[in-house]
Amino acid sequence: MSFESLNLNPAILQALTTAGYEQPTPVQVKAIPEARAGHDLMVSAPTGTGKTAVFVLTALQRLAQPSAKSGRGPRVLVLTPTRELALQVTSAVDKYCRFMRHMRTGTVLGGMPYPKQRRLLEQPLDILVATPGRLIDFIDQGRVDFSRLEMLVLDEADRMLDMGFIEPVKRIAGATPAARQTLLFSATLDGGIAKLAQQLLREPRLIQIAAPRARHENIEQRLHYVDDGGHKRRLLDHLLRDTGLGQAIVFTATKRGADRLAEALFDDGHEAAALHGNMNQNQRNRTLARVRNGSVRVLVATDVAARGIDVLSITHVINYDLPKVAEDYVHRIGRTGRAGAMGIAISFATPEDARQLKQIERFTGRGIEAHVVPGMEPKLRARSDFSRDGRGSSRGQNGNQGRVNGAATRWSSRRDGGRKAGRVFS
Ligand code: AMP
Repeated sequence: MSFESLNLNPAILQALTTAGYEQPTPVQVKAIPEARAGHDLMVSAPTGTGKTAVFVLTALQRLAQPSAKSGRGPRVLVLTPTRELALQVTSAVDKYCRFMRHMRTGTVLGGMPYPKQRRLLEQPLDILVATPGRLIDFIDQGRVDFSRLEMLVLDEADRMLDMGFIEPVKRIAGATPAARQTLLFSATLDGGIAKLAQQLLREPRLIQIAAPRARHENIEQRLHYVDDGGHKRRLLDHLLRDTGLGQAIVFTATKRGADRLAEALFDDGHEAAALHGNMNQNQRNRTLARVRNGSVRVLVATDVAARGIDVLSITHVINYDLPKVAEDYVHRIGRTGRAGAMGIAISFATPEDARQLKQIERFTGRGIEAHVVPGMEPKLRARSDFSRDGRGSSRGQNGNQGRVNGAATRWSSRRDGGRKAGRVFS
């Protein structure tokens, strides 16, 4: 199946080619034709399956035709539970509509100043991406014109339900025309979601994509707090000497960093090589061939270079530098645990990484368990300002008695009040 056979507008097809997409993912194959036929949809597809493109492409296809109604309000509304997801959806819209003319997208989010968003709502809009709470504020102020709204998308509806947005979502839906098309995406489609769908959707088509790998259930995720670059190097060297490690991809933030680290590891006796965007295709292919034939055990890579690497023997992914974008974390760790195998994903986090770490944990919806290697404890201590399950747990690495601290994201030095926070690990 190709994107061409989905009969999409040429400008959309051009954007997909530019994005490097070769063919639609399973959820896109199943859901886009149904959505394009105008049906309401209930889709269970976790993040990483390409679900965003299902509704964005369907929306853009609609928007390629002028509205039959006058007015300036949005023709498509996407509701998301979090700001992060709203921003991701907005950037997906930008990516897929880049060759379409006059596409106007706006984002209305909580936690941001009102005036700019107010002005945005006064402008003509095609797609509005919003979190429910802030949008309700604007609806209550009479600032949103839904008279020409054609499509409502509820993204990650299960999370909206969990976060207590169910009433705002219902109210927002109630403010839109009844003749709209509604697309609901959720990890689960039972219980509260089924009830919500009954109220808001009309004879929805049900599409379920089982994607346990996309949720990384077969990948053990670990976190190591580190003090600085030197600490990272020592810890990495230790981890790479583990005989349980078959082959690893080590991610760095920069191409230079990948080169330097690969050289340093090679000098230390590891079979290491770098892979990054400054290498030409031949060089990249040669390196990948050496990974596949086992002569490279440690591939040091940047995000872009590592996209799409599908090597079944990768047992470990190590985030030497945390990714800047939370979504890249999911792409990175997905390089291990291929074809149902178990994989281990280890992330290093310095005190400066606290925000990024928090974003990753929010994005994946779970805290990453912290581990320590005895003798390589961080000098700085981590403490948690929240814990998702409210419990501490302790599980060590390789049977060592490392302490685990669910979602520790703030640091304090040994001298200050780390103890005050309760959950201190050392
Ligand atoms: P999502 O599940 O919507 O969060 O998408 C996960 C990732 O897959 C995003 O980085 C998309 O850019 C990418 N993606 C979506 N559709 C395709 C496709 N057909 N081919 C390749 N990548 C895709």
